[in-house]
Amino acid sequence: MIDINRIPDEAFQVLKNLKTNGYESYFVGGAIRDLLLGRQPKDFDICTAATPDQVKEIFKKVIDTGLKFGTVTVLVMNRSIEVTTFRKSADFINGERRGVVGFGDSPEEDVKARDFTINSLLFDGDKVIDLVGGLADLSERKLRAIGVPVERFNEDALRMMRGIRHSCQLEFNIEDNTLQAICHCAGLIQKISQERVRDELVKILISELPSTGVRLLQETGMLKFLIPELDACSKFEQRNSYHNKDVFEHILAVLENTPNDLVLRLAALFHDIAKPCTLSIDDKGVGHFYNHNIVGQKMSQQIMRTLKFDNKTTQSVGILIREHMNKLQNPRLSTVKRLIQRTGVENIGRLIDLQIADEAGSAPPHNFEPFEALREKVRCIIDRGDPINIGDLAIGGQDLMTMGFSRGPEIGRVLKQLLKYVIDNPQFNTKEKLLEFAMMIKSEVDDRQEVPSTDQIEH
Ligand code: ATP
Ligand code: MG
Repeated sequence: MIDINRIPDEAFQVLKNLKTNGYESYFVGGAIRDLLLGRQPKDFDICTAATPDQVKEIFKKVIDTGLKFGTVTVLVMNRSIEVTTFRKSADFINGERRGVVGFGDSPEEDVKARDFTINSLLFDGDKVIDLVGGLADLSERKLRAIGVPVERFNEDALRMMRGIRHSCQLEFNIEDNTLQAICHCAGLIQKISQERVRDELVKILISELPSTGVRLLQETGMLKFLIPELDACSKFEQRNSYHNKDVFEHILAVLENTPNDLVLRLAALFHDIAKPCTLSIDDKGVGHFYNHNIVGQKMSQQIMRTLKFDNKTTQSVGILIREHMNKLQNPRLSTVKRLIQRTGVENIGRLIDLQIADEAGSAPPHNFEPFEALREKVRCIIDRGDPINIGDLAIGGQDLMTMGFSRGPEIGRVLKQLLKYVIDNPQFNTKEKLLEFAMMIKSEVDDRQEVPSTDQIEH
C-alpha cells in the first residue's frame, strides 16, 4: 500500500486545500504507480474538478505551465505540484494533442483519457481508487493501454514510445493486445515532433533495460521511422571473425554493457551505425568497415541534429564515435595526453567505458587489460595536473605579444608548438622555460622573414 511518508507535506497541503474549497481532487499518475512499487516518485500530479482559474484563486503562487491542457503548477515552499483539471479524451487531432476542447466532468473521464492502466490510479489521500484495473496490472507487472489500444495510439502516437519507455524503466512486460497495436500503428510515430520523440528515446536509453527498449522499437517497426540508419543494422552480417553477432545485436550488447550515462549510451547506440554503408569484402571473403568511425561520427551528428539534441551532447557523442577504434596498446604518456586532448577530459573515461563495452560485445576471447592500463595512465596524468590544453600552459597569448609576436594566427601556432613541447616535457611548463622556448621560436621566425625564400624572389 501507499507509504504516505513518501508524499511531501507541500503536495498534501495542495490536495487538502483544493478539497476544502469544495473541489474533488486526487493524486494521480506516475507518483501513485511509483509509490505502490516502492519507488520514490519524481513529481506529484493532482487532478481536480477545479478549473485553472479556480486553482489560481486558491493558491498564491501559480504558474501557467500547460494552460492549453488545463495544467497549472502550484508552488509551495520551493516545491512545484502540477494541478490538472479533469481531462476529456477527445482533444486529439492527427495523433497530436491540440489542447483541451472542454474539461472532463469526473475522475472516471479523466482516468480514461490517460495512457496506461498503471498510470491511472487515483489516491485521495486515504485510499487508492482503481477505475481501470491498474492494481492488477501493477501486481502482474504488465503495461496495458486503457480502452482500445489502436484507438488510443491513433489519438496520440507518442504513447507507443511511452509504453516501451515505461516497460524498460519499470521492467514490465507489454500486454499482448497493446504490443500488437503498437506493431500495427508503428508508422504513426512519424507524426510526433522530434522533441517529444527525443525525450522518450533519452528515457529509454538511461533506463534499466536500454537494449530491451531499443530492441522493442525495432521489433515493433517503429525504429525504421525514427532512425532508419539504425534499423538498417538489423540482420546486417559482419563477415568477420572478430564479431559473432550482426551489427544490430552487437550494438545492443554494447549498449547493455555501458554504465548509465546518456552521452555514453548514445555513443554506444551510434558507434557502428556506419557499418552497413562502409562494408567492403576482401579476396578471402572477410568483411571490413574502413572509416566507419569517421562516417559514423557524421551520421550520428546528422541524426542527433534532426532529433534536436543540444550541441554539447551531439559533439561529445561524435568524439566518442570517432575515437572508439583507437585502441591504444601500451601507449606512451604523451600519446595518452594527445588522446585526452582530442576527447576532452570529460569524455576520456567515457571512451574507455565504450571501448570496454565494445570488446565485451564482440567475439571472445576478450582482453580488457589494455583498457584498464589506459585508465590508469589517464588517472595518473589527470591527478598530476599535467598540461593537456593550451589553457594549461604557464604562459598565454598576452605574454607572446609582449615578446613581439604579432596578434593573430601566429600566436595560436606558437602556443600549439609550446603545448607539443610541454606534453612531451611537463616539467618544463614554467613561465621561464616557455618564454625561453618562445624566444627560440621567435628568432627562427625572424630569420625566416629576413632571408626571403627563392619563391618570394621569383614572384
Ligand atoms: P515519470 O515518472 O517519467 O514522470 P509519468 O507516468 O508520471 O512518468 P508524465 O509524463 O509525468 O509520466 O505524465 C503524468 C501522467 O499523465 C501519466 O502517468 C499519465 O497518466 C498521463 N499522461 C502523460 N502523457 C500522456 C499521454 N501522451 N496520453 C495520455 N496520458 C498521458
Ligand atoms: Mg511524472
